[in-house]
Amino acid sequence: MDDRYYASGMPLDDKEDHLVRAVALKGNVKAVAISTTSLCEKARELHNTSNAATAALGRFMTGSLLIAESLKNETDTQTTIIRSDGPMKGMTCVCDNKGHVRAYPIEGNVETTYLRPGKINVGEAVGKKGSLTVIRDVGLKEPYSGSVELISGEIAEDFTYYLASSEQTPSIVALGVQIKDGHVVNAGGMMIQMMPGFTDQDLDYVEKRANGGFPEITFLMEEGFSPAKILDLFMGDPEITYLNGYPVSFSCPCSKERMSEGLATLGRAELYKMIKDNKDIETVCHFCGSKYSFSPKELEKLFELKLKKI
Ligand SMILES: [Zn+2]
Repeated sequence: MDDRYYASGMPLDDKEDHLVRAVALKGNVKAVAISTTSLCEKARELHNTSNAATAALGRFMTGSLLIAESLKNETDTQTTIIRSDGPMKGMTCVCDNKGHVRAYPIEGNVETTYLRPGKINVGEAVGKKGSLTVIRDVGLKEPYSGSVELISGEIAEDFTYYLASSEQTPSIVALGVQIKDGHVVNAGGMMIQMMPGFTDQDLDYVEKRANGGFPEITFLMEEGFSPAKILDLFMGDPEITYLNGYPVSFSCPCSKERMSEGLATLGRAELYKMIKDNKDIETVCHFCGSKYSFSPKELEKLFELKLKKI
């Protein structure tokens, strides 16, 4: 790898999924780019999604990871939720501050239509009406929550609108997922944000570059561009400074114990019925499809206290 494009924390092999942060235009612009090919392919495998749902879920995870770069503390988490009127009905995604992401679509096996040959109509699969909600749990009493209506269901526009209206940060978000023969071959994104003190000229410059036919992210990735190189090309600023980076991956922290906590939230009557039925209960993690089975004995043990009160 070219040393110029290396930032601390990045994986040594820049083909591995990672995020990189930079500043440009004398610190007035923050530029973040990410590659997510492997994690998008992993999500496709786990959820067995059709091409349209693979693209939508991939863009959603990529956008969610981009805005999650602002999580500061070890234990911070971010949940992004789309609820929409299209065949997918919506998606849920959780990110932590270590670059881990997990996500699932409500409906993953939807019809794939095209805007033009090779260009999947993601907005059609997601839906044009609905909402994008961002919940950030950063250790405060109440998690932060912001919500906007969907603009197009194309995801990048929806994140851009969210950042502008809910977080008052003028931003540009670009996302892409390229699929060949049912597999994700390239996926990534870019987020350009104006920093406090930015000038009209800075904003004008960035908007012109974004609207001036800048190539699609996946096209650049196909040409061998790493996230850092994409930022370099976009900003066109010889003084761009790469701050740091980190690997990103699909990762689900589910376990039998966590699942039992979920079961414990069921009402007493329902739990009692489950135990009375005397059958194993199987629970499935929405995010990764892992199955956990609970025997009536285990259920009884787990909910002894609750049952005593019946
Ligand atoms: Zn899981």
